[in-house]
Amino acid sequence: MAGGADRFGVCAADPCRAPYLDRTRAGRQRFCCELCNNRAAAAAYRSRTRRS
Ligand SMILES: [Zn+2]
Repeated sequence: MAGGADRFGVCAADPCRAPYLDRTRAGRQRFCCELCNNRAAAAAYRSRTRRS
């Protein structure tokens, strides 16, 4: 079973929390799908650029 290290995780996007299977070689996946990834990126961008 060489190189078949499947990794399971839980989507980091709130309130999704769906379990996903990380199939990236680096194991950097944090979201269940592209949609959550984009949504979280947009939210991070917004909070980073928001004015007080
Ligand atoms: Zn998700």
